[in-house]
Amino acid sequence: MIEDKNQQSTQLSDLGEFALIEHLTKNFKIKHKSTIKGIGDDAAVLEVKNNKIVVTTDLLVEGVHFDLSYMPLKHLGYKAVIVNLSDVFAMNAMATQITVSIAVSNRFPLEALEDLYAGIDTAANIYNVDVIGGDTTSSTKGLLISVTAIGEVENNDEVYRNGAKPNDLLVVSGDLGAAYMGLQVLEREKEVYKVNPNNQPDLEPYSYIIERQLKPEARKDIVKLLSDMNLKPSSMIDISDGLSSEIIHICKQSKVGCDLYEEKIPLDPQVISTCEEFNIDSTTVALNGGEDYELLFTISQEDYPKIKANPNFSIIGHIKEESAGIHLITRAETKIPIKAQGWKNFNA
Ligand SMILES: [Mg+2]
Repeated sequence: MIEDKNQQSTQLSDLGEFALIEHLTKNFKIKHKSTIKGIGDDAAVLEVKNNKIVVTTDLLVEGVHFDLSYMPLKHLGYKAVIVNLSDVFAMNAMATQITVSIAVSNRFPLEALEDLYAGIDTAANIYNVDVIGGDTTSSTKGLLISVTAIGEVENNDEVYRNGAKPNDLLVVSGDLGAAYMGLQVLEREKEVYKVNPNNQPDLEPYSYIIERQLKPEARKDIVKLLSDMNLKPSSMIDISDGLSSEIIHICKQSKVGCDLYEEKIPLDPQVISTCEEFNIDSTTVALNGGEDYELLFTISQEDYPKIKANPNFSIIGHIKEESAGIHLITRAETKIPIKAQGWKNFNA
C-alpha cells in the first residue's frame, strides 16, 4: 500500500546489488574520527584508543515487528536505527557507527528503498552516527531490516544490568505506555479503513501517542545529562519490552528484589485518556506495552539530591534484598508479584 504511492517505480533488478548499495548510501557522510573506512571495501575499519566499544544488533521483520499499512518506510528506517541506538545508550555509551542490512522482495521498487534509507540517514544525522556498511539481499516475501550499532564509552563508565544494590532507587526517564496505545489507535483505524476507505480519521487527539509509535526517539540526552550531573547509575536498561520485563532483567541479573509503586509510574495525559477510551488499565499498559525506549536505571540513595527536582526523571521504586521478591505496590497498597510477559513478538 505504501510503496504504491510512489510516482516512479524502478525495478530493483534493473540495478543489481552493488549499484543499489552505491545508490542508497552515496550521500552518507563520515562524522567520527574512529571511522577509518566506511562503506566501499570488504569491511569497515575502526580505530579506537582507550575507550571501550559496545556492539548491539536487532532484526525487524515485516508482519512481526512492523506493519507497512500504517508505518511509512521513512519512519521504519528511522525507527530501525533508534531501537539499536537505545541499546547503546542503555550501556551509558555514545553511539558512533551503524551497519544496515535489508532483505527485500521484488514488490518494493527502488523508490521505496530510497524512502527507507532517507529515514536511516535522518536518524544517523540527528544522532551523529556513521553508516559504515551492511548488506542488501532479496527475500521471497516481505521486508527484513537488521541494524547493528556500535558505541564508545570512556574510562570505566559503562553501566550493566547487574549492578543494582539493595536500597538503590529505581528511576525511569520520560513517560511510559504511549507507543503501545499509539499502536492500538493505528490498528483500530486500519480496521475502520478496511470497511470504509473514505473515512478521514481525526488523529489529532492521539498525536503524541502515535508519534511515540511511529517515530520514537532514543534517550541520548539522558546519557549526556547523567554525565553532566556526574551521576553514574548502578545498573541500567532501555525499555523495549515493557517496564515489568526490564525490572525483572535488572533484578535477576543483580540478584536483588524490588518494590515498584503504581502511583509513581509516569503516564502522559493522552495515554490516560486513550486507555479510558479503550477500556484498558493504564498500569498494565505501562508494565507490558513496550517500545517506549526510555531508560530505566538504579542509583545510590546518596545521588537522590542530584535528580529529585529534575522533570526528566521519575523515581518509581526501590531495590530490596533478593529474598523480598519483585512486587508492584498498587494505589490500594496491595502487593502484587511482577511477572514476565515473555516474548510477545513470538505471538504476533
Ligand atoms: Mg535493550
